[in-house]
Amino acid sequence: MTTATHTPAHVPPSGTGDVPEASASLAAARRRSDQLEADIVRDPTRFRVLTGDRPTGALHLGHLLATLDNRVRLQDAGVDVVIVLADYQVIADRDETGDLPAVVREIVLDYLAAGIDPARATIFVHSAVPALHQLMLPFLSLVTVAELERNPTVKAEAADAARRQRRGMSGLLFTYPVHQAADILACHGNLVPVGQDQLPHLEVTRTVARRFNQQYAAAQPYFAEPDALLTEAMTVLGDDGTKMSKSRGNALELRASEDATAAFFRRAKSDARRHITYEPDARPEVANLLRIGAHFAGTTPEALAESVGAAGAGRLKEVVTEAVVEGLRPLRARRRSLAADGDAVVRGVLARGNARANRLADGVLTDVRELMGTVY
Ligand code: ATP
Ligand code: MG
Repeated sequence: MTTATHTPAHVPPSGTGDVPEASASLAAARRRSDQLEADIVRDPTRFRVLTGDRPTGALHLGHLLATLDNRVRLQDAGVDVVIVLADYQVIADRDETGDLPAVVREIVLDYLAAGIDPARATIFVHSAVPALHQLMLPFLSLVTVAELERNPTVKAEAADAARRQRRGMSGLLFTYPVHQAADILACHGNLVPVGQDQLPHLEVTRTVARRFNQQYAAAQPYFAEPDALLTEAMTVLGDDGTKMSKSRGNALELRASEDATAAFFRRAKSDARRHITYEPDARPEVANLLRIGAHFAGTTPEALAESVGAAGAGRLKEVVTEAVVEGLRPLRARRRSLAADGDAVVRGVLARGNARANRLADGVLTDVRELMGTVY
């Protein structure tokens, strides 16, 4: 999802471009997404978006640019945005959860500071919505192990976990796409913002919805097959030149101070060539800095590269720092004032969000049990 994905999001699956079938279906997904964007403008009330995050740490610049801004855009367009904090998924690939309530609080503050409006959007925590998880059992019966084994994103995540923690793939991680189907279908979500690498995940949800209908609701389909809203967001790199990620310790957190922001960019990897140019393939680290700077300065990476030119990476980093500090100033000010109000704001947001998510999921579970004939 940008549902609670612990996926190497927006990293194109290797070789996609070489496989005609894959690129044809990607092109189809793009066309469908364009159509959906037009439909949102015409009638946003038709759509409920389900997205989320795993509470594995405070949110960072990658989240803002890849998912948060898009969620706020959809919310402001009038779409019903539902956000899950997938605390159960934290243990899918690690033994330590850290201080979950504290992390959840930080992320809710990040959401609110970024512009998520709890009066319009719904923020809930997985474990507070039992009916959602009960849906997972019938859903698990509708997919095969072989289908789950084919999921490239789960494979990549499992390899990551193995490298990081020498941990085998857990059953929870293996069935993650089915859990995600429960997240989405428990609230009748019909639109899911995804990077292209997450299309296979959403395919599992669509399969579950379709097979449930075939098996239990043949006369009148019960679940709509949700659509992917493809986001073409950039992958933001951390200070070590790999994908910025909460658990890699390479992130610029949204809540960071201005000094910490400057220090982050000072130590960010660049390369040995002095003259700054925008060459995403040949110079990924410099290109990353240029994209970030351009985003906040309201220009293009090419133009920014030109303006820095011979002044080199040191100057580029100063320019990017200024743009980011300036660009994040309002968000950070909002965040500070929300945090100063203590826990009451966050608690209130989650109490309302959890209550609404429970209403939605209880309703779906009641319907599902009736359709399955398991009401006693
Ligand atoms: P973790 O280390 O726990 O996996 P993470 O920082 O990688 O955390 P996720 O929760 O895996 O964050 O990602 C949530 C969503 O945020 C992803 O689906 C992805 O769309 C987006 N995202 C995360 N990191 C980046 C990034 N560096 N660049 C672009 N998008 C990102
Ligand atoms: Mg991740």
